[in-house]
Amino acid sequence: MSSFEADPEVGPDLPVTMELLEGAPVALGGPRGFAVTRTLPNRQRRLVGAWCFLDAYGPHELGDSAGMRVGPHPHTGLQTVTWLVAGEILHRDTLGSRQEIRPGQLNLMTAGRGIAHSEETPRENSGLLHGVQLWVALPHADRDMPPAFAHHADLPVVAFGDVTATVLMGTLGDAASPARVHTPLVGAELTLPAGASAAIPLKTGFEYAVLTLDGAPSVDDATLKPGPLLYLGSGRSRVRLATESPAKVLLLGGEPFEERLVMWWNFVARDHDEIVQMRADWESHTPRFGEVRGYDGPPLPAPPMPLTRLVPRGRVR
Ligand code: MN
Repeated sequence: MSSFEADPEVGPDLPVTMELLEGAPVALGGPRGFAVTRTLPNRQRRLVGAWCFLDAYGPHELGDSAGMRVGPHPHTGLQTVTWLVAGEILHRDTLGSRQEIRPGQLNLMTAGRGIAHSEETPRENSGLLHGVQLWVALPHADRDMPPAFAHHADLPVVAFGDVTATVLMGTLGDAASPARVHTPLVGAELTLPAGASAAIPLKTGFEYAVLTLDGAPSVDDATLKPGPLLYLGSGRSRVRLATESPAKVLLLGGEPFEERLVMWWNFVARDHDEIVQMRADWESHTPRFGEVRGYDGPPLPAPPMPLTRLVPRGRVR
């Protein structure tokens, strides 16, 4: 652990940007499936830096349920970031990776031109599931790179007063994650003990957002309960976090991502025709995606294409 010295009293006046992005309930695997709250993409805002997708789930007690069961499905043009607050997930992919993940660890899958994976609650589990699934859009120069998978169990932790931050991706204060990123960004889990209050140093060139994972901390003057994503804009040199009872938040940020994207199903592309090709390659089992071995269930079929052409969209609606 390192301690980052930041003077909370120094810096320009805070800009007033604060947008509460409400989450949409989504059932993964159909109406009897696994319930998540999706805050990115959002109606108003599709990206925070290169972060282009955010599903939060739990805390769930699994009881008699099998927990998460997401069969083999493809990805392109993005990185998937899996982060748990409680529980376990078993990841398998077409590179032959088989990796269980636990709280405090990062599973980072870089899809590049194409990969497929499955995610499931392992048979031996704690009976709990609480976490987030994120995607990071790859920039044009890297979006067709060969696929890769990395598991990071030893991530840097930095303290800001009583608040400790585990840096999953990018840098925060003087702590840098070993995970490979393709645009300047940050993803960090901040743990606030009861009574904590701290100013977290931010980069003025980044835009930021905060999601509460647990508790009801205040972010500047706003109380943020689990559910919505609080967008903080850019131009800030700090954000103040405080709490009366223990809390945990996810901080996301990055340089505004200016490329226009087409996001459809599990693909990130640049135009309609690319999506058509990606979908066809998955449905016809071409070597582009390969085969996930060991998952007890069929691959997920792609939904039908919409009747109208998909239009590339920018970061803001
Ligand atoms: Mn996936």
